[in-house]
Amino acid sequence: MYSLETIISLAKRRGFVFQSSEIYGGLNGCWDFGPLGVELLRNIKEQWWQEMTYRDEIVGVDAAILMHPRTWEASGHLAQFTDPMIDNKTSKQRYRADNLIEDFIDRLEKKKKSEEAKKIREQLESVENNEDYYRIIIENEIPDPVSASKDWTEVRNFNLMFKTFIGPVEAASNTVYLRPESAQGMFVNFKNVMESARQKIPFGIAQIGKAFRNEINTKNFLFRTREFEQMEMQFFIKPGTEKEWFDYWLNERVNWYIKLGISKEKIKIKEHQKLAHYANFASDIEFEFSFGFGEIEGIHSRTDFDLKSHQEFSGKKMEFVDTVNNERYIPYVVESSGGVTRSFMAFLCNAYSEEEVEGENAKLEKRTVLRFHKKLAPITAAVFPLVNKDGMPELAHKIYKDLQKAIPVQYDTSGAVGRRYRRQDEAGTPYCITIDGQTLQDDSVTIRDRDSMAQIRINSSQIADYIAKELNS
Ligand code: ATP
Repeated sequence: MYSLETIISLAKRRGFVFQSSEIYGGLNGCWDFGPLGVELLRNIKEQWWQEMTYRDEIVGVDAAILMHPRTWEASGHLAQFTDPMIDNKTSKQRYRADNLIEDFIDRLEKKKKSEEAKKIREQLESVENNEDYYRIIIENEIPDPVSASKDWTEVRNFNLMFKTFIGPVEAASNTVYLRPESAQGMFVNFKNVMESARQKIPFGIAQIGKAFRNEINTKNFLFRTREFEQMEMQFFIKPGTEKEWFDYWLNERVNWYIKLGISKEKIKIKEHQKLAHYANFASDIEFEFSFGFGEIEGIHSRTDFDLKSHQEFSGKKMEFVDTVNNERYIPYVVESSGGVTRSFMAFLCNAYSEEEVEGENAKLEKRTVLRFHKKLAPITAAVFPLVNKDGMPELAHKIYKDLQKAIPVQYDTSGAVGRRYRRQDEAGTPYCITIDGQTLQDDSVTIRDRDSMAQIRINSSQIADYIAKELNS
């Protein structure tokens, strides 16, 4: 498996991801997507949107990031969206207490101290409050990874929501929050959507949008950031049917990742032992990163917690009236909550590969290739004139401009063709089209496949159809 440093280095060099505000030293927990990254990000979102909303029973919304502050009282975020925080008095480093313990367990496991690791993991699983975290840290003499000091403060709650003020006056009554999840935008619009889109239970609302969490520690590149994007779908159902819908959506969502090229062996489903305040069961879809398995999407059975709570706080009925069976009820919800940004990282890590191939003069050379699914690749095709003379550039440029009407395509004339192939391999471009001497005679071009590196010849008039067919195969 390739290290995160290798992936980050390629991501920067090829313009997938840059550190936010890099010229000022960066801003912790924030990243910018470069020219290739933004295409990959858009493709992931587009594939998700098509998968989730190109069906009868799911419709989309795009709700505001700033919401009425009562939303967060009703959802429980004001009181409960907290992480346990601990400071080391010597190094002044701040940690999430559960992460500090988990990292310690990982280090024990690496040192093959499995009995000790198991004991602490059991303690962690039965934690009920901040005192329990503190006791585990003190009893097991967990040191600060930076300074090795064991001089800790107590464990306190830290609310992850970013606050700001609406209007010119910075008063408590004007406080609003940057949403920490996109889900609430769908719950508060439940009635609007059901009525305007003439939906009946079961139906879903889908949304893609930014979310913000003031994470105590950000780490592992895009895995835990303070600003990120989510793709979420809330599926409203009849109470009592949640188990079957939960199983259905878990299966659908796992298959989506596999369909888009994520290796089956790198996916794991982890059932939650400890449930959030709103859930009656939940599972995470995890991907195997170089630092271990990590959640990329959560499937949660949220009961009627959110709608019921919004009904209570807003005074507006959140019921579905079933005129056929003559009953009314507050629907239950099964949600699929995926991170666009975390999936981006999973797709990038999954695609990355280094291999030895035969280069010029039959010499072995290293090629780095991003084996993205064709529909996710930032650039679909690249066009090269073999040499920059004999009318080849003019012909190649015309083909390039024609293709550009339908797909993201690049034109490259610099260096040997082998080098140009390598550049496109690193960007994950599935098709490279070369215009050569034979093109001038019979109008045929070569199309080279990124993964097999095999080339075929077709007439230049067939390129667009060939690629369209490949993309939909
Ligand atoms: P974690 O336990 O890793 O903090 P979570 O269980 O709080 O995540 P959810 O609230 O279920 O996460 O959020 C749904 C999805 O949003 C996650 O599966 C993940 O893909 C994404 N996500 C959550 N927090 C972050 C973050 N800080 N940075 C990037 N993506 C995130």
